Amino acid sequence: MNCIYTAKYLVSGNAPPVEGGALLVVAGRIAAVGTLKEVTRNNPEAEIVDFHDALLVPLLVNAHTHLELTDFPQWAETVDAAAQLENFVSWILHLIKVKRNLGAEQYQLSLRHGIAKSLAAGTGAVGDILAHHGSRQLYQDCLLVGSLFLETLGQDPAVICRLRDGLTLALKDEAVGSVELGISPHSPYSISKDYLQWIYRYCRQQKIRCTTHLAESVDEVEFVEQGGGRLGSQLYPQIGWENYIPQASGLRPVEYIEQLGGLFPENLLAHGVQLNPAEIERLADKKMWLVLCPRSNATLNVGKAPAEKLHRAGVKLALGTDSLASCDSLSIWDEMAFAHHWFNGELDAPTLFSMATLGGAEALGLENSIGSLEIGKSASFQVLRPKTTVAITEIFDYFVSSYCTDDIVQVYHRGESQAP
Ligand SMILES: [Zn+2]
Repeated sequence: MNCIYTAKYLVSGNAPPVEGGALLVVAGRIAAVGTLKEVTRNNPEAEIVDFHDALLVPLLVNAHTHLELTDFPQWAETVDAAAQLENFVSWILHLIKVKRNLGAEQYQLSLRHGIAKSLAAGTGAVGDILAHHGSRQLYQDCLLVGSLFLETLGQDPAVICRLRDGLTLALKDEAVGSVELGISPHSPYSISKDYLQWIYRYCRQQKIRCTTHLAESVDEVEFVEQGGGRLGSQLYPQIGWENYIPQASGLRPVEYIEQLGGLFPENLLAHGVQLNPAEIERLADKKMWLVLCPRSNATLNVGKAPAEKLHRAGVKLALGTDSLASCDSLSIWDEMAFAHHWFNGELDAPTLFSMATLGGAEALGLENSIGSLEIGKSASFQVLRPKTTVAITEIFDYFVSSYCTDDIVQVYHRGESQAP
């Protein structure tokens, strides 16, 4: 049945907010957008659902997360509650310790929780990274769209051979449910040069998306450029990789992955905290997408991404929560609020909103179906009811106010209503 949704404000994401705005939804898609008067004039038969003093807003995109780690805080409580996370490497060691004795069922339950929390926070699309590839079937009947990146890492050539076979077998399916399958070669410090090069070549040839953690910490930069450092002396021996510490490459991470064929727009980069001005220019030239995850960066104390320089240079930006191992919620609304404060306003509220909607959608190749409320796109939107009056000029300030997650009263995925 054709239905018109209206509220005090419509924030379409591709045009200024409209007071008394409305959407006509036909068969799960947006068929008209305008003021209520305009939309009803041409569709007098359609049912009208009026949310009165609320806002209609696109569903958000969490472009970098690891939903299978959603139960991490509870796991850590029982294993290593008093862990001291002094630096990036001590955090990785903590992560390994907590994950050591978990079974497939725990990861599956955790992924279920992650999907549920994402939906409840008004997220409609994810760039989710999955280390336990067998759990991917949980996406079969899932409302989320986006990319599911199968994580892979390793240094031992014999192990890599097996991983590569498993990966190519899993990727015979292009999608699970509404998520497209891709690869996450974890990071330059956790994967051999040959394997990383093979993955980038495979992704370009097969037109598969991938995602790489890049320039996240000074430890990674040191490891790639000079060989060793804390990752070589503390992480590698812990995981039996002491014989695989690479020689100094003399290259910073961006140059390193460029030499291995990794600078192509379908390789979604995450973090970018350590990028220097020349690297920022390079990413902009190559039309790369970068997901910023400020709450994770703050937790791991790795520094602050050069947000203003990235934005000014034209590097295309999205937002991600990363996992609950380094962040305290899976809400992109919360990430926007934190980012506004963390970057001292270097990214203004409308820019952050754009990163969380159209930016994330484009980063995942979904710009024709989600990210804004436009004719022809999916009717995937949320209804926010602020607890206090928000003037039309205050809408974007409200979006970074940290209240939005609690103000969600209804979400719609492809025209279907879901309680938050
Ligand atoms: Zn991550």
